[in-house]
Amino acid sequence: MIASSDASLALQVALPVPLPQLFDYRAPAGAAPGPADVGRRVLVPFGPRRLVGIVAAVGPTAAGAPALRDAIEWLDAAPLLHGELDRSLRWLARYTHAPLGEVLATALPATLRRGEPLPDTHAWAWRLTGPGGEAIGTLKSGGRPRRLADLLQTAARDEDTLDLLLDGWRTAARTLAARGLVERVAVPASQLAPVPQAGPAPNDEQRAAIDAVTTCTGFASLLLDGVTGSGKTEVYLQAIAHCLAQGRQALVLVPEIGLTPQTLARFRARLGVPVHALHSGLADGERARVWAAAMRGEARVVVGTRSAVFLPLPQAGLIVVDEEHDGSYKQQDGIRYHARDFALVRGKALDVPVLLGSATPSLESLQNAIAGRHLHLRLSQRAGNARPPAVRVVDVRKRPLDAGLSPELLTAIERALADGGQVLVFRNRRGYAPVLLCHDCGWSAHCPRCSTPERGHPMTVHAGGRRLQCHHCGYRASAPPACPDCASLGLQPQGVGTERIEELLAARFADVPVLRIDRGSTRRRDALERLFAELGARPGILIGTQMLAKGHDLANLTLVCVVGVDEGLFSADFRAGEKLAQLLIQVAGRAGRADRPGQVLLQTHHPEHPLLQTLIHGGYHAFAAGELEQRHAAGFPPFAPMALLRAESPHADPPMAFLHAARRVLHATSADSGSSMLQLDGPVAAPMPRRAGTYRAQLILAADQRPVLHGILDAALPAIHALPEARRARWSLDVDPVDLY
Ligand code: ADP
Ligand code: ZN
Ligand code: ZN
Repeated sequence: MIASSDASLALQVALPVPLPQLFDYRAPAGAAPGPADVGRRVLVPFGPRRLVGIVAAVGPTAAGAPALRDAIEWLDAAPLLHGELDRSLRWLARYTHAPLGEVLATALPATLRRGEPLPDTHAWAWRLTGPGGEAIGTLKSGGRPRRLADLLQTAARDEDTLDLLLDGWRTAARTLAARGLVERVAVPASQLAPVPQAGPAPNDEQRAAIDAVTTCTGFASLLLDGVTGSGKTEVYLQAIAHCLAQGRQALVLVPEIGLTPQTLARFRARLGVPVHALHSGLADGERARVWAAAMRGEARVVVGTRSAVFLPLPQAGLIVVDEEHDGSYKQQDGIRYHARDFALVRGKALDVPVLLGSATPSLESLQNAIAGRHLHLRLSQRAGNARPPAVRVVDVRKRPLDAGLSPELLTAIERALADGGQVLVFRNRRGYAPVLLCHDCGWSAHCPRCSTPERGHPMTVHAGGRRLQCHHCGYRASAPPACPDCASLGLQPQGVGTERIEELLAARFADVPVLRIDRGSTRRRDALERLFAELGARPGILIGTQMLAKGHDLANLTLVCVVGVDEGLFSADFRAGEKLAQLLIQVAGRAGRADRPGQVLLQTHHPEHPLLQTLIHGGYHAFAAGELEQRHAAGFPPFAPMALLRAESPHADPPMAFLHAARRVLHATSADSGSSMLQLDGPVAAPMPRRAGTYRAQLILAADQRPVLHGILDAALPAIHALPEARRARWSLDVDPVDLY
């Protein structure tokens, strides 16, 4: 058979496999491919498997290439990815040096990745049928079916509204539907508009910030740098309202633990349009529906966590990144993108303003503001009547401690409760105690999967001393009855975790609720919300880890006690100081959010530590200024771009062997390039050299300019991929790493 000239064009398909190239196929059923096919999903054979790929290009097959296989079938009639999103994702693949197919797979919701069709995005409503209208009077009054029929008598109601109005309405609806009295009808999501509520009148600083956003005519990046409780969310809401009034879509990114029902309710109540939520707790089908609704322009406002940055926004008007400093914006495995940074890229490509908000901006964003790349907007005061909390350091050197709490702290808690306030005790260690120690020989319980002969990794004590758990790999064991080394019975939990603090406070303040909130006690979002509802405004104590640093607003919280942050003061990670400062300011900011003044007690063995001194006397910005100076002097981000090559293996040697070989390739490429040199630091064992049975090592790459770093990586990566050592270790590249672990 003689192929027509068109048939020599191949689909160049991006596939979700860890190989850098595109894969050529003939179009399904011998059809001639064309440029309009770019962005369509297609099912293709790949070895013995079938994979869902996306057409990245259509082009002639390379001369002498082996015969092409036929793609099996088209999965979309029209391109799923096109325009700005397609261009931005290609940019992301180049920036992360990751295969385009893997980037596209990361960006798509799971059901689309699996090849399922784009879901329909109707909302569902219920209404009375003709016979239903006549039969209302015959239904037993007070029963659920009757109450439902009464609700539907004036108008059809959507399912979200019914959820709010009548418990158990679904069963009633099924009963009535079986008798032909009610029916379910699809309505466009955009028709379901609650009536917007008015917000408070903005103060002068808020007004200036709102104006700065709403007068943007295209892309601009703005850093809304406002103390906790200063009314940043009000600024977002008004900027979004303006965006909606222009007929445009708004995307709001929030940290993983920031997307609470309370936040959503606030957005829904204020905006007068349906607000879609996108987070990891949703079922795959729900996530795909939000994606499709955004793509069709039906979703006008989406509030979502990290991966929401991949939503198509055909009518974009504004992107907001709340708590832009938050670590959860960085994806730590697979494609290691940073949602804040990618939001800026998308805002630029979409030509819309991007508003970054935080009380504790990342040093990256602060430096961008200083350098004039972001417009710096400040909210210096708390909104309304709320005043900043008073912060005091409690020196606990040589003080007797009870479950890690000093007498001063216990007295302050007692007083706050007596005044009818709520207390938050912050300790960023869950479990009962961080270590189980033998007091006779010094043995301590180590995780067998995370320890090396040189470095033991302690297991956390749980359940009052009965169980051991490794917080890095999840390994569990029961606590030994006696020391395995010396048979002594003197095994004791050492140090303090949230469970131990809970034990003490529950015994000591038995007449108020004492609630522990950490990943051990409250896995689910709604469980947390229920706890808060149960507590209400009553006096009580909350004990928690950083899960409590933001999210739900507690109007009656008057005292925040911070215990045991001392570990963070001496970490080797160059970002440790920044993270600790942010955490302290955020936790402290939980106090006194409403009319009652708040107090913060910071208990430490190192009251003179410069970080604490600067934070308390100068605030976050004084700390940040000093930190930026040090980063500049040391040649660290944000002044020098950095990348991290990581390698791991179940065996001890392959990671280092691979990284040494990669280092040689990078060094040679850098020397050849003639541009300024790449600095290579390592390879060294990772700060956690073994984790869950895997040995880990890393090599740090830094350059004084971004193009140098990327140019050398582009040139060196094919050779690194081809290294024989690369087959004996799992390796990955992380551009702009956030955690060096
Ligand atoms: P942030 O996002 O900076 O933490 P919020 O926007 O949540 O702050 O505002 C904190 C509290 O102050 C909220 O209860 C909010 O309703 C209130 N608030 C915000 N702006 C004003 C204002 N201009 N006048 C009165 N109250 C305000
Ligand atoms: Zn012992
Ligand atoms: Zn472990």
